[in-house]
Amino acid sequence: MIPNTFEYTAPTTLKDALALIGNGGKPLAGGMSLIPMMKLRLASPEHLIDLNRIPELNYIREQNGELHIGANASHYDVETSPLILGKCPLLAETASNIGDIQVRNRGTLGGSVAHADPSADYPAALQALEAKIVLSSSKGTRALPVADFFLDTFTTALEPGELVTEIIVPIEAGLTGTSYQKFVQPASGFAIVGVAARIRREDGKITLARIGVTGLSGNSYRAIKAEQALESNAEIEKAAKLVGEGVEPSADLHASAPYRLHLATAYAARAIRQALSRSA
Ligand code: FAD
Repeated sequence: MIPNTFEYTAPTTLKDALALIGNGGKPLAGGMSLIPMMKLRLASPEHLIDLNRIPELNYIREQNGELHIGANASHYDVETSPLILGKCPLLAETASNIGDIQVRNRGTLGGSVAHADPSADYPAALQALEAKIVLSSSKGTRALPVADFFLDTFTTALEPGELVTEIIVPIEAGLTGTSYQKFVQPASGFAIVGVAARIRREDGKITLARIGVTGLSGNSYRAIKAEQALESNAEIEKAAKLVGEGVEPSADLHASAPYRLHLATAYAARAIRQALSRSA
């Protein structure tokens, strides 16, 4: 189908983009989700603000012991950045699992985070990493913990006039192992269920466990009960069984609720095992 008519502006500075978005313009990043929605007329924005020509949103750098990633970083940039591969491999591994090479070339970290698809891959990793999402408007900038950013299916804490401008992730200590494991929806590549594990082991004992889950329900989350079990030396299978505790599993034509829960348990066990094998 052909989208409704719309105005199109491609600003070259963040200041101009924020002014246009403050006036009701709709951000366009990779267009991998927005353009199909416009073609299906699920979205009919009157004015598209193309973010692709704004160099200020395009960077990956180390700062104050963290990695700061501009919203325009493509999935391919995240997957192949030597800085991210070396210092936050969970994010690079997650990016490499997204869709296909065309989607990874065009789609952006900022666009994916803003879109908040319940089957997107990044949210699992960002939850496990306790990432911060930086939001900017003409009025100023704020950084939110990821758990306060993703509110529900396709719903975030973004206010009208705000853009996601940066994602901040920790640099992993040497003793931390990570893994992202996903059961793929074969037609699109989206996660029917995806689990990210981040585990630190010191003197043979787990001292930190973070488990992020996507796809199981309408929103990504941290599986706190499973994390606590691991930190109390529970067996991997026992901890993995807690990954869906307190969560209402989604059901659709791809997977029933009980099957999704079964997948989450199985993929949590895989992610934990691999993260442990990668921890020193
Ligand atoms: P756009 O499509 O340009 O924008 C998406 C939404 O976010 C729009 O509402 C837009 O207004 C808003 N937006 C964009 N940037 C910002 C910003 N900086 N601040 C505020 N709002 C903003 N994703 C996965 O996670 N895993 C997969 O396996 C996967 N497979 C895919 C397969 C196919 C065939 C396709 C087409 C997509 C797939 N995706 C998958 C989605 C893909 O990752 C998209 O890149 C992502 O969802 C949206 O990013 P984008 O940069 O394309 O954003």
